[in-house]
Amino acid sequence: MFDIKSATINEIKEFMTSIGESAYRAEQIFVWLSRGADFDEMTNIPVALRNKLKEKCYLPKVEIERKLISKIDETIKYLFKFSDGEMVETVLLSYKHGNSICLSTQVGCRMGCSFCASTMNGLSRNLTASEILEQITATERDSGCDVQSIVLMGIGEPLDNYDNVLKFLHLVNDKNGLNIGMRHISLSTCGLVDKIKMLAKENLQITLSISLHAPNDKIRSLIMPIAKKYSIDELFTACREYTETTGRRISYEYAMIAGVNDSPECARELGRRLFGTLTHVNLIPLNPVEEKSYNKSDKNVISDFTKVLEEYKIRVTVRRRLGSDINASCGQLRNKQLVK
Ligand code: SAH
Repeated sequence: MFDIKSATINEIKEFMTSIGESAYRAEQIFVWLSRGADFDEMTNIPVALRNKLKEKCYLPKVEIERKLISKIDETIKYLFKFSDGEMVETVLLSYKHGNSICLSTQVGCRMGCSFCASTMNGLSRNLTASEILEQITATERDSGCDVQSIVLMGIGEPLDNYDNVLKFLHLVNDKNGLNIGMRHISLSTCGLVDKIKMLAKENLQITLSISLHAPNDKIRSLIMPIAKKYSIDELFTACREYTETTGRRISYEYAMIAGVNDSPECARELGRRLFGTLTHVNLIPLNPVEEKSYNKSDKNVISDFTKVLEEYKIRVTVRRRLGSDINASCGQLRNKQLVK
């Protein structure tokens, strides 16, 4: 069976030719698929062809396993279930400037970051491009909201599922599809240096976020196994290359974990490393995960950390925690469902 929703218009054209149909239908089909339509809903496609497509192609189907709506803000969190029973989380966030969606790229994760809920049961499988896309169509269909921007910050390591994620980026950016501009898409990675270099060569205008979480290899390797494979120096070199090729600034994520990475010395070390690089640091108060012993840093510790970074002329924001009452950080809902 052909995974037609993971296909570009050109690939659908090739497929149409291969089944003895005319290629010009490809664009119409692509438009329908991007709108989340089923074959039966493709009213400008002859019924005979729709039936043939049903025989030869499949569409990813998701069911809403759970849906949580925040009482504090308008954040909606979905636990979606694919037809093989695997589940991922998707979060819809409303901002003044529009709706943003946080998508999962894998079922589980094999990166092993010690503070993260998504990786606790390892990696189950990669998501296909169509399954990443389907999270948007299912969310739009259920909520009635249009999505204006995307963050690949849900369950999974996007660069560990490189080909499918890249395919998704091109599909979602297609002017016949959802037409979401690359500049409205952020990809977050724990720092797979070889893949960051590959991504730089693609020269896309997406925002690259690096989950840094420590100012040096010693602390980083205590909480992030990937730090044992690639040093911070190698990571920064790849980030520099990314900026040189794409002209895009890098943004760094830094989860503030009490007593682990939040000391004034850590702030100074980070400041020295990033000084003069025109980057942006996002401080995220750790979202404590039940099964782990970490706590989030105190407010005044975060504010002192911020001041030190600002002395080094680094742009810092403290991430507002949307949907904190519904565990909007990804991974926790899926885990709860797994142990049931
Ligand atoms: N694998 C990718 C994207 C998924 S996680 C990555 O590592 O970037 C999205 C962000 O949430 C990452 O910065 C991740 O480190 C962070 N994160 C994970 N668990 C967290 C927690 N308990 N509290 C705060 N941030 C967390």
